[in-house]
Amino acid sequence: MNKARFQVLGFTVPSGSYKYHDDGYVDSILDTIMKVDKLYGLDNSNYNADEYIYAIGKYYEEGFNLHIFYLERSTKKSDIQNRSHEETHVLDYLGQLDALTDRLFEEQGVKINLKEVDDKEVIAQLGSLYALNARGLMPWLERGYKNNTFLKAERIYKQSKQPEKRFFIP
Ligand SMILES: [Zn+2]
Repeated sequence: MNKARFQVLGFTVPSGSYKYHDDGYVDSILDTIMKVDKLYGLDNSNYNADEYIYAIGKYYEEGFNLHIFYLERSTKKSDIQNRSHEETHVLDYLGQLDALTDRLFEEQGVKINLKEVDDKEVIAQLGSLYALNARGLMPWLERGYKNNTFLKAERIYKQSKQPEKRFFIP
């Protein structure tokens, strides 16, 4: 039985027959895809480079091997967002979303059943929101890296935040 240890999400899940590889920061997403393809003896002559011009991270699967790799961003916050996004894709692929669902609720008071979210990109963005909030970083104060799936995840996150219990001394 293998395990997948997610460095930015900060937890480990069983991964069955799958092997998880965090390949770290790379200089080029496309070059790394080709390199990993070669590792598994795959033909990579037909890549459309244009598809990866704006890619900042990648989740890659081949057989029982799961890889992530990513570009280094200009701020720590963007690195955390980018890396935890790819980690959450792997978590999803492994069928272990419950591990994140539990932590969101226990640690951040956010009650979301991730299995009911039907967009895998939104799920990955919710993983990012978890990782950012776990570090006290408030993503919605920054405008730079919002896109539609992130805004949708942010809306779900905020709506799912349980009211904090208040105790008053009479
Ligand atoms: Zn994604």
